[in-house]
Formats: sequence, structure tokens, C-alpha cells
Amino acid sequence: GYIGSHICVELLGQGYDVTVMDNLANSNEKALRRVEEITGKKLRFYEADIRDRSAYDEIFSQNEIYGVIHMAGLKAVGESVRKPLAYFDNNVSGTIVLLEKMKEHHIKRIIFSSSATVYDLTQGECLTEKSPIGNSTSPYGRTKLVIEQMLADLYHSDARWSIVMLRYFNPIGAHVSGRIGEDPNGEPNNLMPYITQVAVGKREKLNIFGNDYDTPDGTCIRDYIHVMDLAGGHSKAVRKLEEQGLFIYNLGTGQPQSVLAVVHAFEKANGLKINYAIAPRRAGDAPKYYANADKAKTELNWEAERGIEDMCRDSWNWQKNNPEGYR
Ligand code: UDP
Repeated sequence: GYIGSHICVELLGQGYDVTVMDNLANSNEKALRRVEEITGKKLRFYEADIRDRSAYDEIFSQNEIYGVIHMAGLKAVGESVRKPLAYFDNNVSGTIVLLEKMKEHHIKRIIFSSSATVYDLTQGECLTEKSPIGNSTSPYGRTKLVIEQMLADLYHSDARWSIVMLRYFNPIGAHVSGRIGEDPNGEPNNLMPYITQVAVGKREKLNIFGNDYDTPDGTCIRDYIHVMDLAGGHSKAVRKLEEQGLFIYNLGTGQPQSVLAVVHAFEKANGLKINYAIAPRRAGDAPKYYANADKAKTELNWEAERGIEDMCRDSWNWQKNNPEGYR
């Protein structure tokens, strides 16, 4: 998928061997071929579902697996409200199967893709790893929370595990080559793919969900992070797996941006105009939150290097060169 393909580029570039397991539910195998093209390296691919027990026996016996990066989650907030069981089945039950099979095959190192949505967003704007969690506004958010709690319980039952949970803020951008990027199915839910689809002429206009929030320009504020910086955070987290323990890190820039600021940054970075209109608020949106990413800096020696201009330029470079995504 979007984030996984960029992590593959990063890890192959660092000299790691990479084996990918994906059911292609929200991704495209072409992305993997392009990862190989970008890096000049090969990876191994198994098309399999996270709940498929026999697939793990095959993968874990055919390959020497040091650790697992688990990002096999459904992630559309609105869809999770309509299909909660599908979300709990894939995300929670899937994680249970993965962890059971890892245990059976004596693999006890895992990095989990968590999300800033685990925080109780009514309790504060600048979030540290110690900020209160809970009060999720969607089934999607609750699956992330349950998995985090399950991983903590697993560690408390057996301190030989190395578990790193990475709480992503808002990943956007693409690899600088423009060969891999975000390719949502159908109408995008997220801001940046919507902007790029308007820019490329696939959508008529961007709806900005509310301009009457208690923020300087009235639109919501988020912490957007370049997907290659996010990928870099994963390679630092892989190093952390050398230590046994349970670790949690925010991956964000600590530099909040409003929706309108992102639109204007996109226009400026790419010399384009984005047609937009102000629409009603979207249910469940918190007005403002962003990361304090100091812990990742201190303990992982990681910090985001790319700014909003890089994110806007690289997102557009991907969309412009691939108007239909991978199709
Ligand atoms: N947003 C918007 N129009 C869109 C998509 C998103 O105005 O078509 C706003 C949304 O209300 C939020 C911000 O952009 O304030 C980021 O939304 P996104 O879905 O990308 O990420 P979220 O923060 O919800 O995880």
C-alpha cells in the first residue's frame, strides 16, 4: 500500500532484505515492481490475508524473519462506522492471528502502525506519548486502541518481546521519483489525495469541511508528515527492535497546518489554483491536534526533515505522472 511501499524503498536502501505479505485489498502489486525499479533491489512477495494461518507457516519457514512491520489495517473512518465487524475482524482478529503465528515461529519483534486517533482528542492539542488515550470517535480508532492494549498485555506476559508502536499523524507526499504514491480506491477520504485529484481534473472541487472552528482561519489543524520521513522513522524503529521492551513513539513534524494553509501551500509549490468551496463540518473531526515528536528524536534519533512544500510538490509529482494511480 501507500505507506508500506515507501517503507520498502527505505529499508531496501538501508540494505535490509524485505518480504511483503499483502492481500492487495487496498493496494497494487505494481507498487512493488516500482519499489524494485527505484532501489534496483528485489523483494519477496506473498499475496495472502493477515488472517490466513497457513500463509504464515509458509512465509516464516521459507524466510529468515528478523521482525515484522504490521500495517495490514483497514483505515477508512467512515467505512468503519458502516462496517464495524469487518474492521474488528481484519484489524483486531487479524493481529491476533499474526501474533499467534509469530509466537509459534519464535519471532518476537514487531513494529505496529498505530495512529494519533488513539489519543483522547478532547484532552489537548499538542500530544505527547503520555497524553490521555481513548474516547475514539470511530470503530477504526477503537481497533487501533484495542490492538495497542493487546500488544501491551502481550509484552507484560512475556518481556522477551520487542514491540514498537508508532503513532502516525497525517502522512502525505510521495517518493521524490513520482513512481510510487497514494492511490485511493474511489473517492478519496483524505485531504491531500483529494487536492491532487482536483488538480489533475478528476474532481471538480475540494470541499473544505468547516471554516468555523476555533482556529486562526477557521479550518481544522493537523500535523502533516512526509511519507518518506515516516518511512525513515520505521527504519529507526527497526534498530530499536534490538532491545526488548514496549516502546511508543509519535511520528509527526510538530508543525501544525490548517486545511486552508495546505491548499495554499499546494498552490504555491506547484503554481496551480485549486478550486474549493466551504462545506459543512465533517462528523468526528477534532479542531486541532499535532505531535510533540521529542521522544522519537531522543530515543530513535529520528526527526522529520521535509516541510509542507516538499510534501505538496511530491504529492503532485506522483499524481501528475500517474493520473489514474497504478491503473
Ligand atoms: N478535509 C477536507 N476536505 C476533504 C478531506 C479532508 O476539508 O475532502 C479536512 C478534514 O476535515 C480534516 C483535514 O482535512 O480537517 C484532514 O483530514 P484527513 O481525512 O486527511 O485526515 P484526518 O485528520 O481526518 O485523519
